[in-house]
Amino acid sequence: MSIVAERMRQVKLSPSVAARIILNRLREEGRRIIDLTIGEPDFATPAHICKAAVEAMERGETKYPLSQGTMPLRRAVANRLILDTGVTYPVDQIIVSTGAKQVLYNALMSSLEDGDEVIIPAPYWVSYPDMVELAGGTPVTLSTDAGKRYKIEPEALARAITPKTKWLMMNAPSNPSGAVYDEAELLGLAEVLRANPHVWVMTDDIYARLTFNGRPALHILQVAPGLADRILVVNGVSKAYAMTGWRIGYGAGPKDLIKAMAVVQSQSTSGACSISQAAALAALTGPQDCVTEFASSFRERRDAALAILSDAPGLNAVSPDGGFYIFPDCTALIGKTAPDGTTIKSDADLVQYILKESGVALLDGGSYGIPGTFRLSFASAIDEVREGCEAIKGLCTALAD
Ligand code: PLP
Repeated sequence: MSIVAERMRQVKLSPSVAARIILNRLREEGRRIIDLTIGEPDFATPAHICKAAVEAMERGETKYPLSQGTMPLRRAVANRLILDTGVTYPVDQIIVSTGAKQVLYNALMSSLEDGDEVIIPAPYWVSYPDMVELAGGTPVTLSTDAGKRYKIEPEALARAITPKTKWLMMNAPSNPSGAVYDEAELLGLAEVLRANPHVWVMTDDIYARLTFNGRPALHILQVAPGLADRILVVNGVSKAYAMTGWRIGYGAGPKDLIKAMAVVQSQSTSGACSISQAAALAALTGPQDCVTEFASSFRERRDAALAILSDAPGLNAVSPDGGFYIFPDCTALIGKTAPDGTTIKSDADLVQYILKESGVALLDGGSYGIPGTFRLSFASAIDEVREGCEAIKGLCTALAD
């Protein structure tokens, strides 16, 4: 009999972690890899943020912090949330955790009864379904269309809701599609939510400030503030401030939910690293031009990648409005034959072919809930992004009917 619990049967290793293991092996064998799977900015954390961490250590901020998050950081988060959502959250309605990921996990653990349904629009961030499973819930995939820029449509949302629905996951800009909603689209979704008062919403806003039109993504609370009593806002410093390794995320929402999440946290991690919290405080309260600079650099990389991919036969890429991923449709290439005679039967085969022939690493779209696509990250240096896209274009051209 296995030591591994039954509930782990449904849960997989994150595909990006699995890809990293394979890429490390290939590198050890001496292969040059252009890694376009990466889910983190290649920028260094800005110097003033690192300095704040050193100063916190020197001041002796090395003891257990308050489990729910230090007061100065929670106050800074509250100020940031006014800008990002228009809602004023008191500090007892804010929790700081070990990355946005742990905020999501705490929320699911503290709210799901066995069999509760969580609507996850596809394409989705790979971790959502597995986190829901771990917490005993049932992930319900809501597919979206490339033709609709992979956005949730109000009618489709209404059809997906059942009496067992507890949560809707929203993530804009989306990982992987880069979709961002405008005011009319958010109002349409808000209307469905108002008609279904048992449904709560987790807004994963981790890419909200990395948009390409100079404005942060509009938040559903900015158009429907009346929904605040059943929305959990999730964000963090990982992507906007190039702080993935510091592991600081935060959540804000109704008091009883945050209180339950704080209990889960107090009985698991005891809270996020004190030094990282000091760094996150400097990130949120210090100069913000780094965020604008990162966003414009991502925009340049996006444009460079799309300029090449738009000439790649068989690929159809929607231009992302934010984040740092492109999610091309490759269904036109399925069934074609590679120069070595192998048939490309799926997106996973295409990704495998591209890795084998050129060392360019991508992630298959099936892992994101939409087979016939793949995810390309443009978080790497622009020359690598260009070189990788040229190689992809060449290999798509080499496929024969
Ligand atoms: N949410 C989405 C959509 C993500 O893509 C990621 C990271 O890839 C996270 C959350 C995790 O963020 P954090 O590093 O703050 O845990």
